[in-house]
Amino acid sequence: MSSPASGSELIKLSPAARLSRLPAYIFVRLDELKAEARKNGKDLIDLGLGNPDAPTPSPVVNALRDAVSEPAFHGYPPFDGIPEFKAAIAGWMKRRYQVELEPAREILPLAGSKEGLAHLAMAYLDHGDLALIPSPCYPVHQRGPVLAGASIFSLPLTAENGFVPDLEAIPAEVAAAAKLLIINYPNNPTGATVNGDVLERAVHFCRQHQILLVHDFAYGEIYFEPERPHSLLEFSGAKEIGIEFHTLSKAFNMAGWRVGFAAGNETVIKTLYALKTNIDYGVFAAIQTAAMAALSLPDTEIETIRNTYRQRRDLLVSGLKAMGWRVNPPQAGMYVWLALPRSLGMSSSEFCEHLLNETGVVVTPGIAFGDGGEGYVRISLVAPVERLREALRRWQSSRLKP
Ligand SMILES: *Cc1c(COP(=O)(O)O)cnc(C)c1O
Repeated sequence: MSSPASGSELIKLSPAARLSRLPAYIFVRLDELKAEARKNGKDLIDLGLGNPDAPTPSPVVNALRDAVSEPAFHGYPPFDGIPEFKAAIAGWMKRRYQVELEPAREILPLAGSKEGLAHLAMAYLDHGDLALIPSPCYPVHQRGPVLAGASIFSLPLTAENGFVPDLEAIPAEVAAAAKLLIINYPNNPTGATVNGDVLERAVHFCRQHQILLVHDFAYGEIYFEPERPHSLLEFSGAKEIGIEFHTLSKAFNMAGWRVGFAAGNETVIKTLYALKTNIDYGVFAAIQTAAMAALSLPDTEIETIRNTYRQRRDLLVSGLKAMGWRVNPPQAGMYVWLALPRSLGMSSSEFCEHLLNETGVVVTPGIAFGDGGEGYVRISLVAPVERLREALRRWQSSRLKP
């Protein structure tokens, strides 16, 4: 008697080709190395992922505790989010960025911005369409368009261009063909920030070429300098061609809650909504209610979170400098983007593997963010200062120095 065939022998059960178009997910390899090190009893200091380590502020947790016992929230939420949350988002955007939004038409709650970014690509890009994507980038910026079947035109972010894409250098035929441009400031992984001119120029470029401009504003509230990051929507004309993605994951330590929102052009919001009605039901209403509590926290609450990252940044940057690294302190975000000198003779993946094996310190190879990230590693500020001090101590006594 023949045994039933396993999945891999059933040819018709091979995965869709779109999955094979994705570049390798480097984080998986890093996870295997981490698991192995843990098994060998190593004390890991994980500065790899961008997962905030502190708990969600207690007023938000308490708001969820109350909301979860409300039977009215136990059914499907409205597809387009609860009106009270959208009104709270509009209030937040007005208070923090002086941006006026019409809650019913220009705002859409999301199960995190990663979900929204992937679905936006699916809603706007067909097979063969062209997307302008920075390299390095937050992985879904590239992977969303690739899954949608689009072709990618990479915009290199380098130390020379200040990690800002040179839109003037895009060939005319590429600009004419492109459908979508993604930018992200404060930037992950490079830590770069920009002044308003850069956002204004992006708006101008996209209006000129009728390109959908997507701004990922995940780190809008994590900044260390007096000049705070600008929302894209502050600039005139932005709403004609633009949409901005916000998340509560970083500013409020709510990464596990899966809540964020998109704001901007009414038609784009409606299109994203139309696609999502076919795929999901949105965010649990109790979580939307708790997210309202987050948006109404006093400003001192985020100030505390900012100060924590600032303190960690200062400690890490001065420790790295003392070791001989050349490093620019990031002015926003949760990461230090460290250039590996050629003299080390190691790829970013090799460097991370050696660092993990020698010291138990986990950082992310730049190549995980695309080819443009090779030659760098990203260090996340997601451990308390005592652990960062310990990481620096071990790193100092390793061979992994410039
Ligand atoms: C962390 C992060 C996000 C947040 O994603 P969520 O799905 O909202 O948790 C989005 N964009 C960038 C660049 C990020 O670093």
